[in-house]
Parts: sequence; structure tokens; C-alpha cells
Amino acid sequence: MRWSKTLIPTLKEVPADAEVVSHKLLVRAGFIRQISRGVYDYFPLALKVIRKIETIVREEMNRAGAQELLMPISCPAELWQESGRWDYYGKELMRFKDRNERDFCLGPTHEEIVTDLVRRSVRSYRELPLNLYQIQTKFRDELRPRFGLMRGREFIMKDAYSFHTDIDDCRREYDNMYQTYRRIFSRLGLSFRPVEADTGAIGGSQSHEFQVLAESGEDAIVSCNSCDYAANVEKAEVKSERPAGREISQESPKLEKVTTPGKKSVPEVAEFLNLPADKFIKTLVYKTDNDEPVVALVRGDHEVNELKLRTVLRCRDVILADETSVAAATGVAPGYLGPIGLKLRIVADLSVQGMCGAVTGANEANAHFVQVDQERDFTPSTFADLRLAVSGDACPRCEKGKLESHRGIEVGQVFYLGTKYSEKMGATFLDAEGREQPIQMGCYGIGISRLVAAAIEQNHDANGIIWPFSIAPFQVLILPINYKEERLRDAADMLYQELQQRGVEVLLDDRDERPGVKFKDADLVGIPLRVTIGAKGLDKGCVELRWRRDGKTDDIPVGSAAKDIHSLITQAVQA
Ligand code: ATP
Ligand code: MG
Repeated sequence: MRWSKTLIPTLKEVPADAEVVSHKLLVRAGFIRQISRGVYDYFPLALKVIRKIETIVREEMNRAGAQELLMPISCPAELWQESGRWDYYGKELMRFKDRNERDFCLGPTHEEIVTDLVRRSVRSYRELPLNLYQIQTKFRDELRPRFGLMRGREFIMKDAYSFHTDIDDCRREYDNMYQTYRRIFSRLGLSFRPVEADTGAIGGSQSHEFQVLAESGEDAIVSCNSCDYAANVEKAEVKSERPAGREISQESPKLEKVTTPGKKSVPEVAEFLNLPADKFIKTLVYKTDNDEPVVALVRGDHEVNELKLRTVLRCRDVILADETSVAAATGVAPGYLGPIGLKLRIVADLSVQGMCGAVTGANEANAHFVQVDQERDFTPSTFADLRLAVSGDACPRCEKGKLESHRGIEVGQVFYLGTKYSEKMGATFLDAEGREQPIQMGCYGIGISRLVAAAIEQNHDANGIIWPFSIAPFQVLILPINYKEERLRDAADMLYQELQQRGVEVLLDDRDERPGVKFKDADLVGIPLRVTIGAKGLDKGCVELRWRRDGKTDDIPVGSAAKDIHSLITQAVQA
């Protein structure tokens, strides 16, 4: 393509609302524009990248035995009511009515639609297994759409759903998809990590996320420095450790109340009493689904993992109570709460079990207890793993490893669903003995448009994007220093044609712009290989090759340029 005939509206200014690099660069390099919050136009270069990602995803999904189909975006409410998610999904589900007042939603994910499709078309075990996928626009009315294509409200997803006669076959397909995802993200040229994950609104019992490692990632993940355990911190288990000192069977010193005027938070009281944070027990009041206040205890240096708390309390939501409701529920000013004598349901993290010599609020303003002995002074209704894993924790899987923290961008997730949807929606098959059985299911998503952003987060420098070869909008950029000069134009046009004939994807910067502008734009847009054609080079019969990634340059003879570039690209694509 010719640059002059392509819509590449590059900008000099960084967009004010863009926080992360990929968002800034995608807008500046003329790939996307926002039309409403979290909804974007994809300009031609962006669409080329998306199509390339889709092609790799399709090739690998087809190779893995999945079949592509296309389901509707507008989904009737009845199916969502059958699964129970019409109510459960909340505000993220974009709902609307048709002219006859019937309820619909814009599909945020398609378990209901595909389960309905399969129950209407599959009868016998002979027709299973099946893996059906689509690549489609999804809509989720996200609370905080941000970071450009990373968290949009409208975005492109590959979603796949598999159907099986039994658990073993479903697990086999889960592994098959897991391996397929590894291949896909490797071919995309990304550095990624599969991690154990929570199942969220999709549900099911086992799940892995594929995380592209990047500082700007919204997800916190931990991995073992010794074995291959890795998990989203939401999910990461914490090995229970008995607090040091408990083994020594000695009587604790007497409980003592001390005044802590105006000192509320753990750091404040810790500084005031000159004690380390891990000697504290933090007392937090949460509200559950039915507004019941529940107290969660964690050590002063730990944080509550709300997902774990939800699981322990068996409720859908837990919300940290605000100061007014804490005071209303306990009669104590926030900051001075403690478990001793508190008449509320208390759940405590495993690390609180057996703590002695600890500090807690004294349930009256400006006072704390010191020398708290959990076993002697208070008894929670449950001890459970409630806290967020942190870097340095012992690995929950192996003996010697320690956890390390990273940030990641979730680009894909695989779920073992079991019969969650098939039982609710009556998706059954007849087994060999003619008995009716619920179908076992798995589902597998990839964020196609989010991948565009993730690739840039991992591949950029101060001057712009550096596309991995496999998803670059073009492989080669031809940049004549002055396209108006006949000699340069002829050489550029000739190379452009020859490269195209060889099947190379090439963009020709035929604009009447100053060389400086062209070079800047070339770096910004990030095409992996640049061919500069200038008068000095041509005098020596040469053009200049420059790799965007490392800036290495090379002069090659103009006569064999097309052939040489073609073979370089073939090597790069195979690498
Ligand atoms: P997240 O936790 O980031 O909200 P999710 O776990 O809800 O995502 P899934 O239901 O697993 O998302 O969707 C499959 C894939 O779709 C995700 O792995 C992610 O790559 C992509 N995706 C999900 N939500 C968005 C979004 N708002 N914008 C862009 N891509 C998204
Ligand atoms: Mg997910």
C-alpha cells in the first residue's frame, strides 16, 4: 500500500486521557480513535494487525480440531434467565428491549447461546466431542473502561466452547486448548505465563489465565522461583505457617490496654508503640450480600483477599464497610476495633491463629490492647486462608521455593465448566446404553483486541511501536528520502513492485514530507524493516536496510534488494 492513499492519521500530541504506553502509541500512530468511553474505531493499520492475530488464532484452533461458527451478538434474555445469569451478571450486561418489549442483551460471552445451540442439534454420544469457536465483537459495560484496547467496553474476542460425554474427555480438551494457547501466544511473539486463576462470572471449577508479562498489567501474579507454580494473586494459595514462638509452652504476659491517642492505622500505631506491623492483628468489617456485617482478621502486614473471603463466607459480594456503618455495627470508632469482646461474626486468616504478644484495637476510642494471645483472648468462628499472597511467601506446592511477584495482562483464559450450564439448560445426550446424560463443557477465551495493546506494552521504545514480525501491519516500509526526485521515485516504485510480486507485505511512504517527518513516523508506526532510498546510496548502487528493533543498518545492492529482503523476511518469520 501507498502511505498517501492509506488513512494513517498520526498525531504529534499524546492524548490526554491515555495512561499506558500502548494506548498513547496506538492513538499517536494512527491506529485507533475513541468514539465513546471504551469504544474505538480501528483504522486500517489496526485492522491489519487484528486480522493477523485472528489468522494465527484460527490456524491453531483449526489445527487443534475446533470448528469456527458465528453466533448472534443480540442474545434473547430467556436463555440468560435459564442459566440464572440474567440477574447474576449485573450492570456489565448491556440490556435492551426490541420493539415488542422483549428483553435482550449484547453478548459479553456466549455460554448460554452455544449451550442452546448444542442442545437443539446434538442427540447422541456419537456426535461428541465438539469444540465450537467464533471470533466476534463482545460488549461488556465495564465499570472502568481504560487503557485503550486493554479494557474496552466493546472488544473483539475469540471464544470457544467444547462439549463432551465425560469428565476425562473434557479434561483432555482442556489440556489440548492449554497447549494450543501456548502455541498461539508463542507465534504472536509474546513473553507470557499461564497461571492458575479464579473462574469469576463464567463459573466452573478449574481455570488458567494466560498472562502477558508487563509492568502496566492490571493483574498481579505470583510464581515460584523453584517449581512451575504460578497463579493470579486472586487465586494464589498461602501455605499455613504457625506463628513463631507458639511452640514454647509458656504463659503469655497479661493483656494490657494502652492509650494510643489519635493513632488509628497499623503504620501509625506501629510507629507509636515502636512495634513491627507483623505483631498487629488488623480488624476489618465487611458487608455481605444481605448487608450482614462480618469481621475479617489478618496480620498487620497482610491484606485481605476479598475473593477468598467471599468463598469462605459463601457469598457473592463482600464490600468493606464505610466508617459510618462500622460505627453503627460495632459502636466503636473505626481505627480502634479489635476482636476481643466484639459481638460479631469473626473469620480470621490462618496466620492469626495462635498469635501471641499481638496488638489489636481495644474497642474504645484512643486505646489498643497489647500482649494479645489469640488462644487465650478470643475465638473466631473460622480460621481460613484469607490473605493475598505476597512476594517472599513460601510456595504452596513445593518444599523449597519462594513466591515472586509480577504484573500481567490477561490475554486468554481456559475454563473447565463441567455441567454448570448443561444441567441448568437441559443440554443432554444419549449414551451408548440410551440413557440421558448432561454434557460436560469447557470454554476458552482470547482477547484479540487486548492482544494488540499487550503486544505493544512488551514491544516499544521511546520512539514508538516495534511490532513482532508475525503481527506487524506491514513487514517492510520503503522510505524514499524524496519521492519527487525521479531517480529515487523510480527505485522506490520498482522495489515496491518487486517485493509485492514476491508476496512481501510492503508500505511505500510516497508522501511529500520532509525526511525527518517520515523517519519519525516510521519509528512511531513500528514496521519491523525499513528500506531507505537516498541519492547518496543510489550513487553507490545501494539502499539502506534498518531493523526497527535494534536499529542495526546495512547497505545492500539495489539490484538484488527485493530478493535479499524477501529472504531476510522469510528467515525472520520462521524465527
Ligand atoms: P478481566 O478479568 O480482565 O475483566 P475476564 O476474566 O472477565 O477479564 P474473560 O471472560 O476470561 O475475561 O474473557 C476472555 C478474554 O477476553 C480475556 O482473557 C481478555 O483477554 C479479554 N477481555 C475481557 N474483558 C475485556 C475488555 N473489557 N476489553 C478487552 N478485552 C477483554
Ligand atoms: Mg478471564
